[in-house]
Amino acid sequence: MRRKLAAGNWKMNGLKAELDQIDALTERHADSPIDLLICPPATLIAAAVSRVANDAMMIGGQDCHSEVSGAFTGDISAAMLADAGAGAVILGHSERRELHQESDELIRAKAVMAHQSGLITVVCVGESLAQREAASTLDIIAAQLAASVPDGATGENMVIAYEPIWAIGTGKVPTLNQIGEVHDFIRARLEQRFGTAAGQSIRLLYGGSVKPDNAAGIFTVPNVDGALVGGASLTAADFSPIIEAL
Ligand code: 13P
Repeated sequence: MRRKLAAGNWKMNGLKAELDQIDALTERHADSPIDLLICPPATLIAAAVSRVANDAMMIGGQDCHSEVSGAFTGDISAAMLADAGAGAVILGHSERRELHQESDELIRAKAVMAHQSGLITVVCVGESLAQREAASTLDIIAAQLAASVPDGATGENMVIAYEPIWAIGTGKVPTLNQIGEVHDFIRARLEQRFGTAAGQSIRLLYGGSVKPDNAAGIFTVPNVDGALVGGASLTAADFSPIIEAL
């Protein structure tokens, strides 16, 4: 059985005051069987970790570098994230793919490095609107999975997030059938490549305009094991009902 996972990606949002949201979430969901992950900006990781008691929530990074260390001004290594107390890292988010020209190969190299540091990787895949309209969604997802997910992925070290680019921050959400089609496809591809046991154990998150009022519907879709939430993860008031819908 895959454990449900509610993950929040704060993106470039959050100052120290927002750590109160983490307190509110861990208090309210202390007894929840759902795994919680918040990925605040890197500046808040260590402080966030120190606010979380009893493993009530995992704190993660939003990106890491593909090299161990060196002359990479402004970058953060996987080992640094782990050293700050992070347990996971989001990789290959469409904003990184688009705005920082990240390739599948680079994302895969980052994932290898993250696994070496003991981090769970949340690798994001998703099609653009033009790609969906051209009926190439599944081809795009297949190519992204093949090239950006490293060998040795298991349910312990890998989570895949399906985030259609056109649904991120837009309020537009695919139909439940569309979500189900892609999640079933990802599941089948993972089973093909990693074997039934590993392929079955890797958790698949849906991301893109998940809100308190649409979460319950999305979570009825088979092979949706949770959500990767942007805007609605910034406050406990919005994120809590999503967690409770899982
Ligand atoms: P929104 O929930 O704000 O649409 O963002 C989704 C996302 O990109 C999470 O990584």
